[in-house]
Amino acid sequence: MTSGAVVGTGRGGAIPPPRSGDPAAALSAELDELEVLSRFERDDVGPRAEQAAAAARDLGLTDQELRARVVLADLHRKGGHVAEAGRRLHEILRWADDHDAAHLQSRAAFVLASVFQELGDLSRALEHAVRAVDLLAEDAVPEIRIDALARLADCIGLSGDTAARERYDQVLQLAQDLGDVERQLLVLNNRAYTETVAGAFEEALVWCTVLQDLAAEHDVPLRVGRLDTVVRALMELGRFDEAETAMLPGLRPEALDASQDGDAGADFLLTAAELRRRRGQLGAAQETLDECVRRCETYGLASIRVRARREQAELHAARGNFRAAYEEHKLYSDEVMEQQSAERDARARALQAMYEATEARRQSRRYRELSLRDPLTGLYNRRFVDDQLPRLLATSDEVTVGLLDLDHFKRINDTLSHDVGDRVLRAVAELLLEVEASADTGPGTGSFAARLGGEEFLLVLVGVARADGVARLDEVRRTLAAQPWDQLTAGLPVTTSIGATTAAPGESPADVLGRADAHLYRAKRQGRDRVVSDLG
Ligand code: GH3
Ligand code: MG
Ligand code: MG
Repeated sequence: MTSGAVVGTGRGGAIPPPRSGDPAAALSAELDELEVLSRFERDDVGPRAEQAAAAARDLGLTDQELRARVVLADLHRKGGHVAEAGRRLHEILRWADDHDAAHLQSRAAFVLASVFQELGDLSRALEHAVRAVDLLAEDAVPEIRIDALARLADCIGLSGDTAARERYDQVLQLAQDLGDVERQLLVLNNRAYTETVAGAFEEALVWCTVLQDLAAEHDVPLRVGRLDTVVRALMELGRFDEAETAMLPGLRPEALDASQDGDAGADFLLTAAELRRRRGQLGAAQETLDECVRRCETYGLASIRVRARREQAELHAARGNFRAAYEEHKLYSDEVMEQQSAERDARARALQAMYEATEARRQSRRYRELSLRDPLTGLYNRRFVDDQLPRLLATSDEVTVGLLDLDHFKRINDTLSHDVGDRVLRAVAELLLEVEASADTGPGTGSFAARLGGEEFLLVLVGVARADGVARLDEVRRTLAAQPWDQLTAGLPVTTSIGATTAAPGESPADVLGRADAHLYRAKRQGRDRVVSDLG
């Protein structure tokens, strides 16, 4: 799909951003508006987004700064820098994922969906479009919801799935309820275009007609990109006279010059030349084609230039000049091949760069996670404890720690083998993981189990009252001793001594662990297989 096909161009309302006394609130309102406006081609969106990004940076609001950067990346994409835009958006999405910034995730995924569309990776496009819709908050601005739903419909439709029709119905209804004519036109055009891509020209024409009627009713001239959809549908259905009538307003120079990159204008002229040739107006067709080629050269539109060669070959043939038709067609074939392989390379490079970024991130996350785990048992390691315990003690009121040291562990190693010793350590770890995962200590509470080294473990229970914490630790001790160890240790018991304590508010990890260690020492001295705590 060319960039001019399923995209939005038009004017939104130009309401100045509200200025309240609260700079963060004003910034957020400005970003809401920029996101709404960014669906259309407007000169002021870029400078305003730059300003918003700078303001957000000054306020230290990274998520807001990145919202502005998504808008800027989208402009970059529209300016033809698809791969670079994709790379930037991936970075932003990564930040948003790491910070659970749902709105930002949704917006970055929304723009990435069109990046992937342009790169020809429809399944990735669809994946991102689905994400953009899923992550939108209930109270999202209605225009933003419409945009996300419309892009999802585009992606479904371009994958050749007729389920898109129902989605388009729904999103058109939303735009209509909102009284947003620009968005209705945009969705209608995309709907019609998607049908022409699927070869469903009758269906496309239905929506072209609705599009034309709505534009006429609101006195909005249809820009050439949209006229192109209408003319093509009519032409493919053999309705040449109606196509000619529909085409005429687009041939005026001011209409052709309306698109900034010249792309839509040249594309339209190519369709117009084809229509005239098919109507037998060969002279007019040649003039239109010459004008198209001039524009391609002025604006450097390589891919339309190549397609113009094919049309030129057809035109020579229609005139009976088969020699020239053959020569031109040969040029066309060579150039199209060259171009396709260049495009393929560029696309592959762009996709690879983006996937590499995702992969590198996945890997680094995995490494980070691995670096906090003990390889033998899978429990957290000392580094994790050093990392987490200060934060936990600072933010939670009820933290009970139990320091475990297995009793006479040397005996197991010496009598049996180091390997059996390892298996015992893993079995103990499994038990501790169950404690870590149990309902009142489990995920989200901050409770965790760790292996500090050798046969020493730490259990940290958060949000469990002091006496209950000690009772839980004693239960761990009893359960451990009661495991069916016989098979593994040939009769040698496995028990643990535990020093337990509860952190006082504001206490440091070193103080808390030091006290637990002193209790552990007493537990060993008193005969092992017991819990000693401050509770007595
Ligand atoms: P105590 O009841 O006083 O704690 O007696 P103990 O034998 O457990 O004494 P200590 O804690 O000093 O000894 C711990 C032993 O654990 C020493 C070491 O050989 C063994 N050990 C340390 N790390 C590992 C390991 O990764 N695997 C195995 N199998 N043994 C280990
Ligand atoms: Mg020890
Ligand atoms: Mg020991």
